[in-house]
Amino acid sequence: MLAWLTARGTKRRRWIACGLGVGLPVLVLLALVLACLINAWSVSEPDWHYQLRPSGSGHLINDSLFEERLGRFQAALRIPTISVDARNLNESALEEFKNFLQTSFPRLHGGNEDKITCEVVSNYSFLYEIKGSDESLTPYLLAAHLDVVPVEEDKWNYDPFEAMKDGEYIYARGAFDDKHAVMGILEALDYFLFTKNESVKRTFYVGIGHDEEVSGRQGAAKIAEVLHNRGVKTMDFVLDEGFVVLTNALPGVQVPVALVGVSEKGYAEVSVSVDGVSGHSSMPPKESAIGIISKAVSRLEAYPQPHFFDSSSVEYTTLETAAPHSSFLYKLIYSNLWLFKNIVSNQFLESASTAATVRTTTAPTLFNAGYKINVVPSTATAYINHRVHPKQTIEDVLEYDREVIGDSRVNVTLNTDTYIRPHPISPYGPDSPQYKLLARSILEVFPQSFVAPGTMIATTDTKYYLNFSKNVYRFAPTFLDIEDMPRLHGHDERIRVENYREVVDFFFRLMVNANQVNARPLHVHARNEL
Ligand SMILES: [Zn+2]
Repeated sequence: MLAWLTARGTKRRRWIACGLGVGLPVLVLLALVLACLINAWSVSEPDWHYQLRPSGSGHLINDSLFEERLGRFQAALRIPTISVDARNLNESALEEFKNFLQTSFPRLHGGNEDKITCEVVSNYSFLYEIKGSDESLTPYLLAAHLDVVPVEEDKWNYDPFEAMKDGEYIYARGAFDDKHAVMGILEALDYFLFTKNESVKRTFYVGIGHDEEVSGRQGAAKIAEVLHNRGVKTMDFVLDEGFVVLTNALPGVQVPVALVGVSEKGYAEVSVSVDGVSGHSSMPPKESAIGIISKAVSRLEAYPQPHFFDSSSVEYTTLETAAPHSSFLYKLIYSNLWLFKNIVSNQFLESASTAATVRTTTAPTLFNAGYKINVVPSTATAYINHRVHPKQTIEDVLEYDREVIGDSRVNVTLNTDTYIRPHPISPYGPDSPQYKLLARSILEVFPQSFVAPGTMIATTDTKYYLNFSKNVYRFAPTFLDIEDMPRLHGHDERIRVENYREVVDFFFRLMVNANQVNARPLHVHARNEL
């Protein structure tokens, strides 16, 4: 009997153990699924972001004035301010552009020194100072550039310097990058100072460089120098070109996202070389210089730099911010990144364009070795172009390269003349008044969008302004479908006519909001307000 009972008890325990063995993981799984679903169902726009949305909207420009402004914009696009390289600028076009700005905006260029002064820097760049009445307020800087990249005319369907308007778009080199900002800022400034007669409390600056496309050393760098020499030490924030309002940029997100660049990748040219392994081609050494360097390059490609996609990364926040605006499937993913981050991270790494946002990229671009077919060269050098992720230093990247190559004969050397350190990550989110000011101005003009941070892959003039502020943002108020991206620096660059109206509106709203930043008369409306 006892034996039977014992056997029965053991059996039951086994069943319980077995039940627990199968049931527990199922329960955990169910709980996980439930938690994910609840997160997805309940995700909503954060209050701080919602509260920045305007209760109403309206354009500041009436139609007759808009046509006039549009005409000026087209005239600016017709001047071919092409930068080929730092020593090859189109100086006659730059001179023409200078005269054009001075005659188009006479009130900004003299006679109103109590309100605004303008200094021409390095012959063709401009620095405007708009003097505020309250010296306790830290000034800010709006930056843009007036030069454009060259064109391959035969690949264009339109004359790149005719600024043809087809009803919906204006086609021209510079329409997007970056003359809309140059003209939009100046139109808004003229309106702000002389039509609206705003009394300026906070001093601000407008810096327009003329050689951004070929380094910015004569333009933005010199503007920064002039500011420094005037005793300007800090800026509340700096806003330059960068990301835009994008449609179809994030999977599962139909709503336009206004991406604000909060950092910029660094730049490093690295040589990977070996010296002193020579020999005759009739009796070659076991390992030639070419072989050693080939192996080194191949290892650098096989073991790419680490990637950064975790809760502290900018891209993680981008997706979290997108969650309330996504289709249900993506809502499920973006609101549960704690669970799906590895899957999402792998997706990022799948494509070259998204991989570049989460890691330092490694591009072998040059390979030098040998001079005669029957001589084994004693040296070989490969050049690697790294774009350095803001979560790494250039030193980290070099150390990783050396570790991956794992060959003491190979020298890994940084070109110290050309490197640019990755930019610090500027504050973003509800705790940054400057980011919120920008987000508010964006939402006033693009109320259908949401604002999220991003990391810039391309470089801008902001590298020269980093010392002035920790709040450096890269955003242009232009609207772009991701499919139109190749037009930038490509063919048939264009901007929507209506978008140009929004460009001027945005800069005006920003000037108004920055002027009120201390008073912050922000209209906070409740979610159920009608
Ligand atoms: Zn640009």
